[in-house]
Amino acid sequence: MLRKIIILLLLSSCGKNIFHKDHIHNPSKDPRKNAISDPAFDNYIASFEFDYDREIGDIPINFNDLKDQKAGVCYTWSSGHAEIEIDRSYWDTATENEKTAIIYHELGHCELGRGHFDAMRKDGCALSIMNWIVIRDKCMDLHFDDYIEEMFRQ
Ligand SMILES: [Zn+2]
Repeated sequence: MLRKIIILLLLSSCGKNIFHKDHIHNPSKDPRKNAISDPAFDNYIASFEFDYDREIGDIPINFNDLKDQKAGVCYTWSSGHAEIEIDRSYWDTATENEKTAIIYHELGHCELGRGHFDAMRKDGCALSIMNWIVIRDKCMDLHFDDYIEEMFRQ
């Protein structure tokens, strides 16, 4: 029997790095929409900081209605500013594991400066939380320690 590979487009997260150059025209103006994070993300940010073993920089995380089935997006500007937006409808249906995965993923872009890393394990789980698709609930249970290792300890 052939196994079909199911691509979960609806669960896909592609936190795209968008490089704005607005600061060239307004060098003293902060290009971000928000100054602080929505409290809904506090626990997930704290969890990331615990695993990271340091505090994240000034990166506000807030909800927006994202297009193209994105779950989250990290914006970085050449001025050094960064901001994260999480799709509200995705968040409302995500499990705790998936919420953790998307926040870690976007902070991986915005705080750690990482790009996507799409290698897979033999069991069908991603090798990294920086996979372009949000890590599935079961895979977070199976491999969370490995994901932390891959993200922070290499
Ligand atoms: Zn991404």
